Amino acid sequence: MTEWDDVRQDFPILKQRVNGERLAYLDNAATTQRPTPVLKDLMNFYQHDNANVHRGVHTLAVRATNEYENARQTVQHFINAADEREIIFTRGATEGLNLVAATYSRQHIHEGDEIVVSIAEHHSNLVPWQQLAIATGACLKYIDLTTTGELDLAAAEKQITDRTKIVAVTHASNVLGTITPLQQLAALAHQHGAVIVADGAQAVPHFAVDVQQLGVDFYAFSGHKMLSGMGIGVLYGRYDLLAAMPPYQFGGEMISSVQRQSTTFAEPPYKFEAGTPNVAGAISLASAIHYLQGLGMAEVERHERELVATALPRLLAEDHVTVYGPHDPAKHTGVIAFNITGLHPHDVATALDMEGVAVRAGHHCAQPLMDYLGVTATARASFYFYNNQQDVDQLIHAIRETKEFFHVGSI
Ligand code: PLP
Repeated sequence: MTEWDDVRQDFPILKQRVNGERLAYLDNAATTQRPTPVLKDLMNFYQHDNANVHRGVHTLAVRATNEYENARQTVQHFINAADEREIIFTRGATEGLNLVAATYSRQHIHEGDEIVVSIAEHHSNLVPWQQLAIATGACLKYIDLTTTGELDLAAAEKQITDRTKIVAVTHASNVLGTITPLQQLAALAHQHGAVIVADGAQAVPHFAVDVQQLGVDFYAFSGHKMLSGMGIGVLYGRYDLLAAMPPYQFGGEMISSVQRQSTTFAEPPYKFEAGTPNVAGAISLASAIHYLQGLGMAEVERHERELVATALPRLLAEDHVTVYGPHDPAKHTGVIAFNITGLHPHDVATALDMEGVAVRAGHHCAQPLMDYLGVTATARASFYFYNNQQDVDQLIHAIRETKEFFHVGSI
């Protein structure tokens, strides 16, 4: 049994008071906090091993290179990729998705082809495809959601056709907390000869992900949403696809040999890692993965579900609170979007902050989804394994205080 109160001790940032109140950090979908072991590994790298990678033969350069490449293997095993060369370090999910849109797609998308996304996409997995469609004359199509906010597989079957070249979907929604049936969607995409690109930014931190079992061709995620430093992320790509793709950026590290008028490129993953990489970031990501593996991803998922199983019904029971997404906690990740009738979500988030509760408010980089839901913005509470029932109580209490302060329901 995991002692979650002990786990919290690894996150000193959570001990502070905000506006005189205990901090309830519920903005984990935006970024998570870093535990002391990850901070120590980061410090250790800079204090003892810092050097540039792949270039030097001196001791520190060899150590830094080994740690960087070990981090790649750690990621490989964590998502069960078949080969470490399928792991490309990026700045984050956004860069990984842009990489696929700019390289694989540059070769494969032509006028009249179809790119299919869901209406629930974060702008990171939408704008690159939209711009590609504009540039190539391809058609961008959307898969709608069911009435409970889940991806509608029947709609997907209609939208994905033999003209579809790319299906790009989020694995878990950053607004609705829903999980996409990725395995079925991958099979459907493949039946039509399309590749499937998944945005795992809200999935990999929260439950076990096996890219081979899912059958995805590309899969992107960000380190900072799973305990590691900012500016590091991962793009997984099937090796045969990566090998055939042109480079993303040009420069050092990504070449095999350079002549005056021509260049041959390195093999994947180096072909896609031009310039000095974020070595410390990769090391912090590996450290974060080891930390999560120590807890066990099944335990992380179970604990988050327990929190949602109490938070969601309590939010649903609140007068003048509208919750978006499924009302069944079993269908939810730790993300809960809501509004209070008559209040702008920014006012809600500011009022909750006065009570020590950190939530996000806005369109959550998902404006087409907001439009689809008929709102311009929402507040969003998002949980991680270090949250506890006290955080849930504090959220509900703060919502009640906010309603009272703004006289909600009495005007
Ligand atoms: N995709 C989803 C579902 C997200 O929630 C986010 C970040 O909020 C991103 C992509 C972009 O991640 P990053 O900004 O780390 O690249």
